[in-house]
Amino acid sequence: MNEEGSSNSKVNLLDLDEQGLIDFFLSLEEKPFRARQVLKWIHKFGVSQFDAMTDLSKALRNRLNLVCEIKAPEITETFLSSDGTRKWLMRVEGGSLIETVFIPEENRGTLCVSSQVGCALNCTFCSTATQGFNRNLTVAEIIGQVWLANKSLQEDCRGRSPCRPMPTNALSLSGPMPKNESNSPPLANRITNIVMMGMGEPLLNYDAVVKAMSLMRHDEGYALPRRRVTLSTSGVVPNIERLAADSDVSLALSLHAPNDELRNILVPINKKYPLAVLLDACKRYIGDNKRRRITMEYVMLRGINDTVELAKQLVKILKNVPVKVNLIPFNPFPGADYQRSHPEVISAFRDVLHQAGFVVTIRKTRGGDIAAACGQLVGRVLDKTRRQERFMVKISKRLDVKPKPLELEKNEELPCFGKCAEA
Ligand code: SAH
Repeated sequence: MNEEGSSNSKVNLLDLDEQGLIDFFLSLEEKPFRARQVLKWIHKFGVSQFDAMTDLSKALRNRLNLVCEIKAPEITETFLSSDGTRKWLMRVEGGSLIETVFIPEENRGTLCVSSQVGCALNCTFCSTATQGFNRNLTVAEIIGQVWLANKSLQEDCRGRSPCRPMPTNALSLSGPMPKNESNSPPLANRITNIVMMGMGEPLLNYDAVVKAMSLMRHDEGYALPRRRVTLSTSGVVPNIERLAADSDVSLALSLHAPNDELRNILVPINKKYPLAVLLDACKRYIGDNKRRRITMEYVMLRGINDTVELAKQLVKILKNVPVKVNLIPFNPFPGADYQRSHPEVISAFRDVLHQAGFVVTIRKTRGGDIAAACGQLVGRVLDKTRRQERFMVKISKRLDVKPKPLELEKNEELPCFGKCAEA
């Protein structure tokens, strides 16, 4: 460890879960209980300065200043939707931007967290997929989104509680939240639920995601009950098995089709882990624990996967799996090949499932005006695949315009697909 503490060699304490902090303090020949003390300062109280950690000796605080730091991604922009949803763009090491979304409702506030820069998978209805993939996020970058969102919500609402949505259209915020004069009931202004449903496939960044989720669950951290932390996966079967042993969070599965033929197209990872294998893994995830129920996510794509016939197939394949079903009206993005199912088609689909005894919910679309809804998160990914390039060529052809230059320098601005959705 470098006692001179040049910035690059400092240990970022946001990167460490409880065990990591214990090991760190042992390496400084400090007592392991320091780990919980510091974890509480960082995550429960949102402190970023060691000098504020008043139950540590002055000598230890000085030492921490030299050898470590608390460094989250940098918020570059904040958007506020007319429905109160907020989206933060955050810059991570290497220059890419990731997105984090806060969705306030009357009695809960859900934070949607990203796990990767872009996504390596290629679900055909998801705009993150069009951005290609750069890298996995670190623990600091995953839990850093929660840490920053928490601080930002506290700052926005300090002295102005309860916080309400603005009666305007999407805005880019540079200052604090203005007051809302409407009579609508107050919306939650703190994080009560976290969903790993932002950019990326969380089970392909397994170790970092599991550590970050342990901090979300930790009593001295964000202290969220297990049912209020949800990991959504497209179905990385071996890691569903591992997750059952390593974590107790809720699981959501991006199912989207009731047969392999259709799922191979919509969620191509299905070719590797087909439905029979996937649903077996889900049953094992639940095991004997009767209280755990998996949420099956099903995006409603007009004329593609939304017929009554397919709803009946869904009933059949889910018969012996303890699930609830969440129907997600498709959120369009520029260049998408799909359209949203009509509301009456979604209702008919739901009724088939209801009649078969399933609990079914229809997800309310939030933050559409700031491209913050499910599947609209794109950030600005310095792509290491050719997917972003291919997608840009595709939409350029469609719009009959020249594609933008495709070779991007490290710090060059990338075209933003997300904001196009506002037009
Ligand atoms: N990679 C993970 C988590 C990210 S997406 C997963 O696949 O589960 C979170 C949810 O939004 C998934 O169910 C995903 O399939 C869904 N989704 C993606 N694009 C969408 C879109 N355009 N409209 C509606 N839902 C979408």
